[in-house]
Amino acid sequence: MSGSATLLKLHSPLRGWCASLEETPDEVFAQRFLGDGVAIDPTGDTLHAPCDGEIVSVAASKHAVALRADNGAEILLHVGIDTVALGGNGFEALVQPGARVSRGQPLLKFDLDVLARGAKSLITPMLVTNGDRFSVANACVALAVDVGDALFEVIATAGSVAAVSGETSQEHTLSFVVPLEHGIHARPAALIANFAKTQPQEIAISAHGRSANARSAVSLMVLGVKHGDEITLTARGAGAAVLDQLKQLVLGIKEAPHAAAPIKTTAEEPPAVVSTPASSNKLRGVIASRGLAVGRAVTLRAAEIAVVEAGKGIAHESAEFERARDEVRARLTQLAQHSQGPAKDVITAHLEFIDDWELVASARRTISRAKSAAFAWRRAVRDSADTLRALGEPRMSERVDDLIDLESQVLLALSGEAPATIPQLPDRAILVAEDLKPSQLVSLDATRLAGICLAGGGPTSHVAILAAAMGVPALVALGQSVLSVADDAWLVLDAEQGTLTISPDQVALAAAEQTLTQRKQRQQSERAAAHVDCRTADGERIEVFANLGSIAEAQVAVAHGAEGCGLLRTEFLFLERDAPPSEDEQLQQYQGIAHALEKRPLVIRTLDIGGDKPIPYLPLPPEENPALGLRGVRTSLWRPDLLRVQLRAILRVQPVEQCRVLLPMITDPAEIRAVRRMLDEVRRELGIASAVQVGAMIETPASAVIAARIAREVDFLSIGTNDLTQYTLAMDRGHAELAHRIDGLHPAVLNLIAMTVDAANEHDKLVAVCGGLASEPAAVPILIGLGVRELSVVPTLVPQLKSLIRTVTVDACRSLAQRALGMDTAEAVRALANEAMTPARGVLAAE
Ligand code: PEP
Ligand code: MG
Repeated sequence: MSGSATLLKLHSPLRGWCASLEETPDEVFAQRFLGDGVAIDPTGDTLHAPCDGEIVSVAASKHAVALRADNGAEILLHVGIDTVALGGNGFEALVQPGARVSRGQPLLKFDLDVLARGAKSLITPMLVTNGDRFSVANACVALAVDVGDALFEVIATAGSVAAVSGETSQEHTLSFVVPLEHGIHARPAALIANFAKTQPQEIAISAHGRSANARSAVSLMVLGVKHGDEITLTARGAGAAVLDQLKQLVLGIKEAPHAAAPIKTTAEEPPAVVSTPASSNKLRGVIASRGLAVGRAVTLRAAEIAVVEAGKGIAHESAEFERARDEVRARLTQLAQHSQGPAKDVITAHLEFIDDWELVASARRTISRAKSAAFAWRRAVRDSADTLRALGEPRMSERVDDLIDLESQVLLALSGEAPATIPQLPDRAILVAEDLKPSQLVSLDATRLAGICLAGGGPTSHVAILAAAMGVPALVALGQSVLSVADDAWLVLDAEQGTLTISPDQVALAAAEQTLTQRKQRQQSERAAAHVDCRTADGERIEVFANLGSIAEAQVAVAHGAEGCGLLRTEFLFLERDAPPSEDEQLQQYQGIAHALEKRPLVIRTLDIGGDKPIPYLPLPPEENPALGLRGVRTSLWRPDLLRVQLRAILRVQPVEQCRVLLPMITDPAEIRAVRRMLDEVRRELGIASAVQVGAMIETPASAVIAARIAREVDFLSIGTNDLTQYTLAMDRGHAELAHRIDGLHPAVLNLIAMTVDAANEHDKLVAVCGGLASEPAAVPILIGLGVRELSVVPTLVPQLKSLIRTVTVDACRSLAQRALGMDTAEAVRALANEAMTPARGVLAAE
């Protein structure tokens, strides 16, 4: 090798302005990931060879040429930024791979107008891609250049020359047949893209006469590679080993045994099932509101989010685009950490798409044409989705769903929340939705709503509570498959067993209808006895109250034999409004409920907003973790103006002694004293001489542990097992993935309940349980065994629970509770409780 071969001068391939690579609006070039060199902002329309050499490759979309100089330096000329997406439009290749070219020879011609309209930028990097063997010196920047002007020198680094004529200087291509059963669908595409992103050189994959950047999972899917198709890998720069690694990766991909996401189905064809199917047309979920329903599916779909085409400036829209992607990526990453099975696959696909090379490039390009980020993202997604759809492959159609889902996630992050369309319900409607907000549920026609099936959600979320209050059976955490249920399909929702049967056959449907009828008959006989005082089989009096949220529910509760209201969730009166209700409006509601209860006690809980009960017109400061932020009494003490209005409304209810005030989310006695001070002021203002009974909710581990000190400050305690479980187990009550594990029968929760009951007894204070556990037949004997004598439950369950209580003895409940306290897991407690209640083997029944 002669000395001159080690130094090579590169000449300008274009007329234009020569700039530093840092000025390239693409970090891959700007940060020299692909190699060192310069960039030219062209005024001419023809790309010329910067030196003598051999053409290694011409991109399928003709926007880039790679050439190997005689000294082995590999030079990439990349016309414009994100020009790959033009798909060759505006480009004409004047050379073919393998051609020998001399310096100054035209290589490509391009239409400056087309590029100016369609590309992010015209700036054209010229780089040395085998930087491990060559370095760049004496680069000229910031000057006008003409074709052929010297731009920089390429110097061979020690030891590189010997390799010049070796294997690494060859163009690298590798073809093989894809053995994957489902071709290059989402998962293989994601794995390939992840690998390609870690490589310094670009890798192209071509098939069916088309080529895709291997860093873009979406572009790979769009190739439509099927089982048995041949693909060709091409790499610029030093890449033979890389291509072989990539081939091995593809050959080694194991097909997952389950579909990564639900397969779209029609009514005739049963939908795909989640990871724990009960049978081919059954999905398993978590019980949020007990009962059985037979009806027809009505799906609630998020409304199309409107986007404005025009942007508010390229800088603004670009920044917004990045912000929204960051937000969605952070959320998905968090979700991925605690997901498994199909849910995890879907989230992983979304994470892949959010950073997809081509999707992002395409959106950025549209933004640079003065369009809004939302418009740009939608266009990028829809273009890819259309191409995928056109492949007619079921697996690719699944990805269309993922893309559209991700489209809305980013649009939501850009624009705030999208309204969901509330459908008109037919009779016996079973609502199927991803998730529901309390405000959406309360706006549905309850008389037509037979059941609720949610893909997400948690069993003690407020939607679950509302559903139970409405007497509507509900299953949550059914997984994404449920969203594939066709509108109008017959469903059997068994929220006693936790299963949803889709399009059951005639026999199964008839059996379900028969069970429904039998249950109704049993309920009728229970209701007939519901107004009689409730005692255990050995004569212990147990009071059964109801949890309420409205006047209508109070009427239902009384009709079902409730002995009072143990928890009025006043925040539900604040929903579906634009502003907080005035003192008079609140009074009217509380008074209405007091009337409906016909002098029975009414425990009114002060406003418990925050956490999973946000109220749009009462914005709280931004919180990283709302469940651990301003909630319950903390919010009231933060907004004492709201609390004062509420206390005034409560104290004005007649007769005064019917109402008791209950404080949510207490963690220490100081909070109680602060509210009591305000209550005393309000009493004086209203001239009320008699004392008002005040209670504390025990729903944080802190309050359970110091229940004795809290009991000294109040007249009664009420245990909120929903939050107590959430905070004890450190599991979000609305968390779909954890829904199966967030169980108030966990021994840790039961021990905290036991401590609370003991503390209340020690101070001679009444203690009730008003959380969801009190409405669970399996939990009631244990609560009685722990010493609880007042339950506040879902109104429609009062008759059933009373009839259950009449069958047990306190002694049997005590020994059951003692055993439960010593168990290790919630499942063990549940198994014990269920067995105890089995008539044949049960230990609960009276002799
Ligand atoms: C509870 O936490 O158990 C409770 C009754 O309060 P809410 O469900 O309204 O938070
Ligand atoms: Mg609570």
